[in-house]
Amino acid sequence: MSLLEVENLSVEFATAKGTFRAVDSVNYSFNKNEIVSIVGESGSGKSVSMLALMGLLPTSASVTADKMIFNGENLLGLDTHQRRKIVGNDMTMIFQEPMSSLNPCFRIGFQIVESLRQHVGGTKRECEKVAIELLGRVGIPAPEKRMKAYPHQLSGGMCQRVMIAMMIACKPQLLIADEPTTALDVTIQSQILDLISDLQHTEQMSIVLITHDMAVVAETADRVIVQYAGQQVEQQNVEHLFDHPKHPYTQALLAALPERAAPGKLKSIPGVVPGQNDKPRGCLFNPRCEYAQPRCREEAPLYKDHARCHFPIPATQ
Ligand code: SF4
Repeated sequence: MSLLEVENLSVEFATAKGTFRAVDSVNYSFNKNEIVSIVGESGSGKSVSMLALMGLLPTSASVTADKMIFNGENLLGLDTHQRRKIVGNDMTMIFQEPMSSLNPCFRIGFQIVESLRQHVGGTKRECEKVAIELLGRVGIPAPEKRMKAYPHQLSGGMCQRVMIAMMIACKPQLLIADEPTTALDVTIQSQILDLISDLQHTEQMSIVLITHDMAVVAETADRVIVQYAGQQVEQQNVEHLFDHPKHPYTQALLAALPERAAPGKLKSIPGVVPGQNDKPRGCLFNPRCEYAQPRCREEAPLYKDHARCHFPIPATQ
């Protein structure tokens, strides 16, 4: 059952060198109780598109969409005040750097309690009780003691757990996690991913996981959306995507996984994601695509049958 439906979402920024289209007509459909991963390199528009949904972009951004329905409510028809009631309660977001999301001047307990009082309500004592219970739920040992700690007294992994506790306090229906493990040590990364997966089951949430890391996708997601240079280029369930990628970019991302590399030979994708001034004609991926043909340099491919490619990779390859 669909929780969020978005059609034709675009985001543009006015810059000194002209208009930059960071997100180009993407569609999303997130179902209840699933984990969807949006994957792609930096510059693919993953975070910008989710910030646009949350209404968190600066006023210099121009956001347009044909449809943005969250849990039956048309987000496009809401004013800022009405939108804020949804964002932060039913739809929340955690970011890559937990240290910069927490206020360094206040104790952890104070920050969670304030967030609870603002979004859920209750007395200080009631909120403190809930905060301790939340910290325990996200795996923080001795939660009562940690309530008195300042962010700098906790590790990055602990701070990310605190952020997750704050975000689930309002029992959101949709949690957007933007590269939640990128700033953490490898061993802690997998603990945080396990926590996110467990919470999805216990709290019955939908989760959108933004990442550039296909290994994170494999470990966590039910469904995957691949973005490149602001466009959606492929969308499939995780098993299909890993077994039979249709788009050459997806195939290249998978080939760059260390476990798929030949001994001693790590593969990378040549070139970089095009920016505002170097977008190529035709398919945006054509300068980096090993399958590019003359048509790809002239004609932009349409998105159809799960991929945006003139010559999708057949399942047998
Ligand atoms: Fe490669 Fe052409 Fe497909 Fe673009 S349209 S991904 S250049 S094969």
